[in-house]
Amino acid sequence: MYCPKCFNDTLSVHSRGVAKLLFNGKQMDTSQFLYNIKQESPEQIYEKLREKIAEFFQWYSGFQNKSPIKKFEVFSQDFVCKNNCKLDIGTKFTLLNILFNAQKVYEILEEEASKYSVPIDIKSISKGS
Ligand SMILES: [Zn+2]
Repeated sequence: MYCPKCFNDTLSVHSRGVAKLLFNGKQMDTSQFLYNIKQESPEQIYEKLREKIAEFFQWYSGFQNKSPIKKFEVFSQDFVCKNNCKLDIGTKFTLLNILFNAQKVYEILEEEASKYSVPIDIKSISKGS
């Protein structure tokens, strides 16, 4: 990944950090989880992601007027540049196709959305990321 400071392809995700989720720009306070690549298997990390998606959809399914989910972000601030660049506080990067395969994430979103009868527009979501 390219570093926004030195513009070299030297940026990579921390082996552990916090992943945050946004749905149509919204999140619950709990729409985040800790991951640790060195201690957890990819399956375990996907499972945490699924849990958080399910938790949001369960909450969202109680809304009166549900606009379809058209935007989904999973991001982290826990990235590091090999050149030791100091990244600006608040700089966030997507974890799609870094920590998570985007296609697999869309599948999880669709499965959980149908479980909780939440309208979702996967085409728009995949265009946006
Ligand atoms: Zn850099």
